[in-house]
Amino acid sequence: MAVRTVLEWLNSCSGCEIAILNIGEALVPLLTRHLELVHAPILMDHKYLGQRGDGTEFNIPEAEVGLVSGGVATVEHLQVLLQMREKCRILIALGTCATHGGIPALMNGQDRKEGWEGVFQTRTTDPGCSVPDVEVPAPLDRVYACDEKVEIDLFLPGCPPNPALIAEVLMAVVEDRDPVLPHKSVCDTCPVIREGKGAVSVVRRFLVNAEFLAEDPIDRMRCLLEQGFMCMGPVTAAGCAGGGLPRCIAARVPCRGCFGPVRRDGNQMLDMMNALASNGSDFKSVVDRRSLLRFSGAHGGLRPLRRKSAAERG
Ligand code: SF4
Ligand code: SF4
Ligand code: SF4
Repeated sequence: MAVRTVLEWLNSCSGCEIAILNIGEALVPLLTRHLELVHAPILMDHKYLGQRGDGTEFNIPEAEVGLVSGGVATVEHLQVLLQMREKCRILIALGTCATHGGIPALMNGQDRKEGWEGVFQTRTTDPGCSVPDVEVPAPLDRVYACDEKVEIDLFLPGCPPNPALIAEVLMAVVEDRDPVLPHKSVCDTCPVIREGKGAVSVVRRFLVNAEFLAEDPIDRMRCLLEQGFMCMGPVTAAGCAGGGLPRCIAARVPCRGCFGPVRRDGNQMLDMMNALASNGSDFKSVVDRRSLLRFSGAHGGLRPLRRKSAAERG
């Protein structure tokens, strides 16, 4: 019997849903034989409050499995997520926004009011523009990962997640088994040359190409962190290329951390400081250190900075 499945998106860019489509041919048997999609706003018109929008309660149908992408940034996101938890036996957080806040959680690093005014008023050429407050769901105090609000059964990070891993998770549900997912770091799956110590102590921004010979295979290139670039591979979960070569490293650019931290209960910033120290890099030379958490600013990772007093500012 096909498994009743629900898709939902919260503070999402729809890239995670594109990743589902990118499962490719394997998606055909999934959709025609194994899964019964009973609710998927990206594919089918299904109003939350009745088909004419005149109901008073959310009506997401019951399902065996639910996939939810995006973090929780508004009152509506929270209502939808709570409904998903109530209606789905297995709830899967799909993508790094859902698992760690993702890019939108960068907003957690600044005062929310100033941030919104910055977007809608300061950085616009429209003098009449203001922060919308009519007929839009009220924002929460910050952007949350889904597991900060409800219990999540399975985490599938990635910005976007790897399509093969999405297929593996869905087939595991269909076959009633545990999915086979990577548990290593990006570095653990990276074949470059590591000499154990960086060549320079200053961490460089990636404004110039790394050093490598174009005709050489990737395992002849020296580690990008050791070349002095900020590569988040030591503290980032593997899986972006399934079991293959990390995608950015294949393109010879540093890992930006889009799969979120490798240790769910760890401190990614602290772990990266340790990795830099082991490499002989000066953490103080990192430009915009808080941007290291650009994909994982939920769970209290990013908070607005305390304002300095007049005396502290001198
Ligand atoms: S994880 Fe990435 S692809 Fe998925 S919704 Fe967030 S920003 Fe988009
Ligand atoms: S730091 Fe980057 S380049 Fe070096 S091994 Fe790790 S992922 Fe590869
Ligand atoms: S190498 Fe890092 S930033 Fe690039 S796709 Fe993989 S996890 Fe994401």
